[in-house]
Amino acid sequence: MRIVNGSIRVGNLFGIPFYISYTWFAIFGVVTISLAFIQYPELYPYWPQRTHILLGSITSLLFFGSVVVHELAHGTVARALGIPVKSITLFLVGGVAHISSEATKPAGELAMAIVGPFSSLMLGAAFGLVWVVSLRIYEPIAAAAGWLASVNVALAIFNMAPGFPMDGGRAFRSILWWLTGNYQMSTTIAIFAGRLLAYLLMLGGLVLIVEDRESMFSGVWIILIGWFLERSARSSQRQLKMRNYLNEYRARDLMTKDYSMVQVDTTLDEIVDKQVTIAMWRRSLVLDGSRLMGIINLNNIRRFARTQWSTVTASQAMIPVEVLVKLSPDDRILDVMERLGEERYGQALVVEENKLLGVLAIENIMDVLATRGGLRV
Ligand SMILES: [Zn+2]
Repeated sequence: MRIVNGSIRVGNLFGIPFYISYTWFAIFGVVTISLAFIQYPELYPYWPQRTHILLGSITSLLFFGSVVVHELAHGTVARALGIPVKSITLFLVGGVAHISSEATKPAGELAMAIVGPFSSLMLGAAFGLVWVVSLRIYEPIAAAAGWLASVNVALAIFNMAPGFPMDGGRAFRSILWWLTGNYQMSTTIAIFAGRLLAYLLMLGGLVLIVEDRESMFSGVWIILIGWFLERSARSSQRQLKMRNYLNEYRARDLMTKDYSMVQVDTTLDEIVDKQVTIAMWRRSLVLDGSRLMGIINLNNIRRFARTQWSTVTASQAMIPVEVLVKLSPDDRILDVMERLGEERYGQALVVEENKLLGVLAIENIMDVLATRGGLRV
């Protein structure tokens, strides 16, 4: 079990890492309790309590299973299009498939978007079938199937709302993109629709609470979803801008040769004395003779207590060359940025035919973003 950013890794689903966020346990608890102690007891007071509780838990699990199927559908289509899927995560307001990049053609994007709601619709139909069949056979199964059918259909409809980054918004964007050929403008419009929708949801939730105290929970829930959507729409907007700024750069354009060289047996004390005190020291290459062994930077030195600096050598503190990401000078910044951001060391070697051309660090990219963002050019 691994914990990443407040999520627990529970394994793989068809080769896609599957995470559950801590926040999900709260919503799982709420759904289970409301089914087991409110909805089922109200509708079927004559069932024994253990049936309410058992069925409530099973229904809730199947509901979240349905959410996972929805996300897996997105992931499977993305993969079929050759787009890597990093993970699927269940969290407070549902599920999310982390897909590394967006489709390069509108048709692919459209398929990737609508397959989610489509799978929810199919699940709804399947549960509906179970409901019909079990109606005369065993009431608890029919009750659960009926609830799951309607919730899955609702999920499909809600997800098709035409605001980015919801599935419907992505579909809307891809259709606009298809019609106009303008990715930038289509995305901007879809994001605007997404933010509008999010504000409407939040407003709707607020009205619900004010009008009817009994709907407090639903109201808060709707506001939460609206807030989450607004936040993701805004972050999509930022990403779009960033994409714009970085579009034409390649690794060779942004890499730096701003490094000095030290030998493997140099102590940290010596490095600090000779290198760090020079203005703007970022890193040194660590060499064994003329062979590149690794890179050492501020973070690597900081890991050791000051008292150890006189004995620890560069080779003990450095990031070994084998674990650093290697890029080709022609790699597009947009393609490598995400890899670099997730990469623990935040820097990569730019290599051509086994020759080091430079180092590309995440801060080199951030500098460009800051400058171009500041000038809005
Ligand atoms: Zn979806």
